[in-house]
Amino acid sequence: MHDYPRLFIDGAWRQPSGQGVAEVFNPATEAVVGRVPLGDERDVERAVAAARRAFDGWSRTPSSVRAGYIRALVEQLRQGADEMAALITAELGMPVQWCRAVQVDGPIVGLEQYVALAALMDEVREVGNSLVVREPVGVCAFINPWNYPLHQLLGKLAPALAAGCTMVVKPSQETPLHAFLLARMIEATGLPAGVFNLVSGPGAKVGEALARHPDVDLLSFTGSTGAGVRVAQAAAPSVKRVCLELGGKSPLLIGEDADLAAAVRYGVQDVMINSGQTCTALTRMLLPARRYAEALELAVEETRRLVLGDPLDPRSFLGPMCSAAQRRTVQDYLRLGREEGARLLCGDEPLDGFARGHYLRPALFADVDNRMRIAQEEIFGPVLCLIPYADEAQAVALANDSPFGLSSAVWAADAGRALGLARQLRAGQCFINGAAFNYQAPFGGYKQSGNGREWGEEGLAEFVEIKAIQC
Ligand code: NAD
Repeated sequence: MHDYPRLFIDGAWRQPSGQGVAEVFNPATEAVVGRVPLGDERDVERAVAAARRAFDGWSRTPSSVRAGYIRALVEQLRQGADEMAALITAELGMPVQWCRAVQVDGPIVGLEQYVALAALMDEVREVGNSLVVREPVGVCAFINPWNYPLHQLLGKLAPALAAGCTMVVKPSQETPLHAFLLARMIEATGLPAGVFNLVSGPGAKVGEALARHPDVDLLSFTGSTGAGVRVAQAAAPSVKRVCLELGGKSPLLIGEDADLAAAVRYGVQDVMINSGQTCTALTRMLLPARRYAEALELAVEETRRLVLGDPLDPRSFLGPMCSAAQRRTVQDYLRLGREEGARLLCGDEPLDGFARGHYLRPALFADVDNRMRIAQEEIFGPVLCLIPYADEAQAVALANDSPFGLSSAVWAADAGRALGLARQLRAGQCFINGAAFNYQAPFGGYKQSGNGREWGEEGLAEFVEIKAIQC
């Protein structure tokens, strides 16, 4: 049992003002695995005040010293990586086959790059009679989702530390435990009091209070587009900087000349990892009409091969959905898809042997029209829509016919052609022929997928104010 009865504020574990405790459930067993405080507005006040007090000293701390704290946190995370991965499997349900590499080792790589990038804060550009200098934006508030919890948190915390910002973090109600373990690690690095503060609690209370707060200079929010709009509205009167990392409905464009088996395998696995609870999931597979029937067969074969099971079983590719509510949402979309006229190729087989846990079989919809709601709305579950196209011009048009623009992918035999297609897709990322995620590259969305960029140099830029000194 992971009990965290206190909040981390101003460098110490403090009794919360908010009454009550939030229980955290293991989605595979439905048992309680931890408890965290239900913070409230008074806790936000204390945390923001601590971050404000710490800002002057931290922002003037040499970048090399700030880099040293980031390096120390990298070490803490490396030593505690197994514990962190086990905790995330327990609170999220991601199988052990993936959890350590995807949820912990990758984010550590992302964090570590800011050891070097902190020095960028010292760069001065001369233009005419001006010196253009970089300064940290100030006190930051971070509101995070549950699906890649450490990744989301480090994507904000790492550049903020490098820039010289202080922060208040609100993790998701579903998966807050990793943030408490991280706070312990941060405490062990000896980071100055008030630089990092942690307040758990409901979005409508703690999240809104952070978004509204006049002493918060930057709000970085990752979550659904609906909640992102609400926090942006709450933040508007104080004119703080608002960075939004929101939902997606990303296309995988499989070209006429593609290795169909490899492309379809990649596309199915990309959607089904983390049970489809991935913002960048390539949930619309665009297929050349003349190869559509062949692709459907390949997709069914690959989907049936993926093992759904206990996250602690190393054979499991998919675990349960994170919560009962998330499973219900996905089941509603499975019903909707059928009503809209799409054909469910697999996903409705009985769930024998799963007495407990929010399990759901991976599902494929064929004969999907891109205008259907199942092709336009983010389902956030293991559901892939297979959409035929007549020619590549139509494929590009279908790919871009979405309110979202977070990620995209292209699979084609000819590298030049693949790059040409990638350039036409309106999304913040494009993966060609299964290329790997790159923590040094900027990550973020077009359109209703958001307006921010995380990771790499662009991730640091979010936390920077630019000053021109005329001399
Ligand atoms: P969510 O929007 O329900 O919640 C995200 C966070 O916002 C939580 O901490 C929640 O408590 C808080 N919140 C909710 N309503 C709020 C309000 N009115 N004011 C302030 N805070 C509020 O999202 P979720 O279900 O936790 O996560 C899934 C969503 O996140 C999906 O849409 C997914 O695509 C998106 N996501 C995006 C990215 C990205 O980088 N673009 C990454 C991961 C997840």
